[in-house]
Amino acid sequence: MTYVITPPAQASLAVANTTDRFPVRRIFCVGQNYRDHIIEMGNDIREAPFFFTKPADAVVDSPCTLPYPTLTKNLHHEIELVIAIGKGGSDIAPDDVLDHIWGVGVGIDMTRRDIQKTAKGKGRPWDMAKGFDQSAPISALVPLADVPSLTSGRIWLSVNGEVRQDGDIGDMIWSVTEHIAILSQAVRLEAGDIIMTGTPAGVGTVISGDVMTGGTDGIGTIEVRIR
Ligand code: MN
Repeated sequence: MTYVITPPAQASLAVANTTDRFPVRRIFCVGQNYRDHIIEMGNDIREAPFFFTKPADAVVDSPCTLPYPTLTKNLHHEIELVIAIGKGGSDIAPDDVLDHIWGVGVGIDMTRRDIQKTAKGKGRPWDMAKGFDQSAPISALVPLADVPSLTSGRIWLSVNGEVRQDGDIGDMIWSVTEHIAILSQAVRLEAGDIIMTGTPAGVGTVISGDVMTGGTDGIGTIEVRIR
């Protein structure tokens, strides 16, 4: 059998302290998972978690320099804990979720906020607001065994040295084990899937020349410059 075109390259992420890489299959994102961010976006904190996706090849290793994307005048940062699935499963019980996680990292869910606002207003999909090229810069991944906690820890993002987002992953409305269990009811998760777990309050605009630095305590840091 021969492919009629050259098959696309496998999207992947760096793994901390090794030259090995984590192959990325899909990227799932949790819509609104921190109380303060839901309030700043003017939404209802009692809703069940919802999910959207980015294409696998939206991932970019940190540190990186990203082009300012087309079609937006309001590019936003959302710092997020990132989960990497190592073992597939469907309808996973919350108590079993950790058995399916290979490792974790920290990433930025880059967002064309103006396009998202228009899409929300017209009931259109978010794909072009969230799933554009290079919209998912992510740190090197750390194996789960090396991570102190997925239930607490500071998560923060600075722009040009000024802290914009400063939260704690313990403030998630739907914890890592809860929202991955719920996601696995909607789709069968597979090894290689990435989950961006939502952002705390303080999202805001970045422009060309800005440098974003962020991290999650005990997990890693990320640095992204906008060209
Ligand atoms: Mn997000």
